[in-house]
Amino acid sequence: MGLAIAEYVARIQAASFSILLLEKNPIAGQETSSRSSEVIHAGIYYSPDSLKARLCVEGRRLLYQYCAQYGVAHRKVGKFIVAQDNEEDALHQIVRQARANGVEELEWTSVKVLLQHEPLVRASHALYSSETGIIDSHAFMDSLLWKAQSAGVQFSPNTTVTRVTPENSHFVVNSVSGSPGNLEPYVFRCTSFINAAGLHAADLAARIEGSDPTLVPRLYLVRGCYFSLSGKPPFRHLIYPVPERAQKGLGVHATLDMTGHVRFGPDVEYIDAINYHVDESRRTHFLQAVQRYYPAVRAEQLQPAYAGIRPKLSAPDAGAEDFLIQDMSSHHMPGLVQLFGIESPGLTAALAIARNVSERLGL
Ligand SMILES: Cc1cc2nc3c(=O)[nH]c(=O)nc-3n(C[C@H](O)[C@H](O)[C@H](O)COP(=O)(O)OP(=O)(O)OC[C@H]3O[C@@H](n4cnc5c(N)ncnc54)[C@H](O)[C@@H]3O)c2cc1C
Repeated sequence: MGLAIAEYVARIQAASFSILLLEKNPIAGQETSSRSSEVIHAGIYYSPDSLKARLCVEGRRLLYQYCAQYGVAHRKVGKFIVAQDNEEDALHQIVRQARANGVEELEWTSVKVLLQHEPLVRASHALYSSETGIIDSHAFMDSLLWKAQSAGVQFSPNTTVTRVTPENSHFVVNSVSGSPGNLEPYVFRCTSFINAAGLHAADLAARIEGSDPTLVPRLYLVRGCYFSLSGKPPFRHLIYPVPERAQKGLGVHATLDMTGHVRFGPDVEYIDAINYHVDESRRTHFLQAVQRYYPAVRAEQLQPAYAGIRPKLSAPDAGAEDFLIQDMSSHHMPGLVQLFGIESPGLTAALAIARNVSERLGL
């Protein structure tokens, strides 16, 4: 989000601002953004009129344009959503939701046609989304950083924001910069401060002096593990089961990377601290989930791959929450925008979120 926002603001307002992009790690995008499914979502699943729905649909269009214009590797591979015997109603609900979100490119497909394209998939009913694609998310982030820097953004890695103090019409930002054991304080002033700290956004919000603590939401860490499939890729499209109840996740689906390799995931696990370990013992759970739509899969073909962590706003037993973007209208601090709960479809929505944040700052 930080890269997309910096690039967008620099592009539209390059002459009027100096923009500093702070990153606590040595390289940008090493946390949630490098641990996703890398799927460009059509915008099917989210509640109509939610930020997720609107920004996903807008972001998807902007992202395809961006990739084509700046040569970011991507493929509009399409995806099948497959239902088993008693799940047809869920597909009807998905179609209604997609139409309400303005996603017209979602069609019913007969099982015969599904099997012509994906002979190894088992389903009793299916939908096809032609607008769904995949992207090299690392190439996208590299491109955003390069464009931002070319437009004058100063990128400061190894720099952790520790405190933000509003002072008259400015923010005084305290940070520490450098390598471990060799940290130096770095203090500067700015007129706008954007908190896009992902998993740490609530922690950073609590470090903004004078802000209302009741407006800082609780972020739940929800790990999603992936297992890769060894051997020849059995699919050419993305294959999704119907989503899990309460939309905690989209279900353990099959995605392709840009080389055509298949990985399954992510599952959903609430955890207490950031930990990216993928436990081999989850193989059985993955095998059962995948066998529902790909019966030929064998346990020994599934290899632990990687995990990502969602910054969820919803508690384990609660329904899905929308993205939360706070501006002056809620916290009454001019120049401050804070992003919370930017889970999926954040990658797809990134360019639209950048525009939205910029509008909230009146740019
Ligand atoms: C398992 C999983 C699968 C997903 N799949 C998809 C998908 O297929 N399609 C899709 O559209 N979306 C997907 N998403 C969502 C998408 O990956 C995220 O919405 C997006 O990457 C969030 O980006 P971000 O910039 O908010 O967070 P991050 O990428 O985590 O960036 C936040 C940055 O802030 C830095 N930071 C934090 N605190 C400080 C501080 N105090 N000072 C300085 N820097 C700080 C961090 O180091 C980090 O680099 C997925 C997410 C997960 C977890």
